[in-house]
Amino acid sequence: MAVPLWQEVESEVTAILSELIRIDTTNPPGNETKAAKYIAEILNKDGFQCEIFEPVPQRGSVVTRFKGSGEKPNLLFLSHLDVVAAKAAEWSVNPFGGVVKDGFVWGRGALDMKGMTAIEIMVLKLLKRNNTHLKGDVILAATADEEMGGLNGAMYLLQKHPEKIFAPYVLNEGGGWAIPLSNKNLYTIQTAEKGLLWFKVKAKGTPGHGSMPDAADNAIMRMHRVIDKLCNYRGSISYLPVVKQLLEELSKDKKLRDSMNSLLTNPQSTNSVLAELSKTMPAIVDEIRPRISMTITPTIIHGGIKENVVPSECEAVFDCRILPGQTIEQAQKLIKQILVEELDKLSVETIQAQEPSESSIETPLYQVISNVLKDLEPNCGVAPLLMAGGTDSRFFRRLGSVCYGFHPMRSETCPRVKMTRREHGVDERISVENLVFGTRVLYETVTRFLS
Ligand SMILES: [Zn+2]
Repeated sequence: MAVPLWQEVESEVTAILSELIRIDTTNPPGNETKAAKYIAEILNKDGFQCEIFEPVPQRGSVVTRFKGSGEKPNLLFLSHLDVVAAKAAEWSVNPFGGVVKDGFVWGRGALDMKGMTAIEIMVLKLLKRNNTHLKGDVILAATADEEMGGLNGAMYLLQKHPEKIFAPYVLNEGGGWAIPLSNKNLYTIQTAEKGLLWFKVKAKGTPGHGSMPDAADNAIMRMHRVIDKLCNYRGSISYLPVVKQLLEELSKDKKLRDSMNSLLTNPQSTNSVLAELSKTMPAIVDEIRPRISMTITPTIIHGGIKENVVPSECEAVFDCRILPGQTIEQAQKLIKQILVEELDKLSVETIQAQEPSESSIETPLYQVISNVLKDLEPNCGVAPLLMAGGTDSRFFRRLGSVCYGFHPMRSETCPRVKMTRREHGVDERISVENLVFGTRVLYETVTRFLS
């Protein structure tokens, strides 16, 4: 098989990402069709036939396929085209400028997740240019609406056009970055994700004059107690097998050995161990903490109408994330129990709910990814990852696909501690070096998996 010229790949994949960033797909409203058309156009140049699906005007997703012989199961490259909003005034560059400087491509979506879309497009082009013979199809689907739940993107496609995108194996966002340890990189493969429950609490009170607070029943004060109770709730700590595997890999590092072993052998010591560890390695604590219990975070609040009126209503929205093994129903019951004392003055309403999802690591694809990483970087570690957030992978896992979040990124150029803050954050960017590295790892993975 011809070896791709990585220098040419560098300029091409960088240009694709810059252009994708320049197409503003902030969701809402999304307007992903323009990006879908751009992808169709550039893949067309290498002979790909692309289809664009638009459940509503301007909310386009693009799908194409590199045909294999059918002897092996198909693999889907899944990505999303929409991005979250960016306030230009807070950025040091135009977030929709696609600027390339200091070895990085800057802009909203560089990490989440137009960077991976660009890599996947590049891999498809290389497969075609090298006349690669594969035993299964590689499907590419770059979809709309992931940031708002995927109803107009991946979920729509799976419901209306499953024959176009369903595959037994899926690679998507949510893992792949390396956690830098003392003397090696530990690469993550997202094999599971927490479930989500977005819910709204309305607190009722009795209105009155702001000058006589005791004569009224202030809905804002009731909401204050609700927030206090929900946010101080500490879900029971549970180390799922996928989390234990990550900790076991981390424990191979001499600086982490003692603390990881304490967590693994004595989960009751979790709070004290993590408090101690956060003094020296806060990034590692950030990696662990959301993966061991249910969390509840307030994200929106509204209440009050005038300076001197005690409000009769206040409402707040909460983002609750649950571990695999818990159900949405259990979480809903638990929330009502936490608020039981004032429940008669509250209404709790579910906005959106998604069950947790998980794929086995005992698969040929996991093995191939592991081997590719170890061949490229012999002393690296590889571990499965439970993602604290959610991705479109859940729709495919429900239908039985094996899905991994795997956007391979090295740590030496993009320390994970800073990157966490840049996804959905200010000055989001990805190094050009990592674009090439990602292309190389995914190209190797696909050709080995489907050979
Ligand atoms: Zn994303």
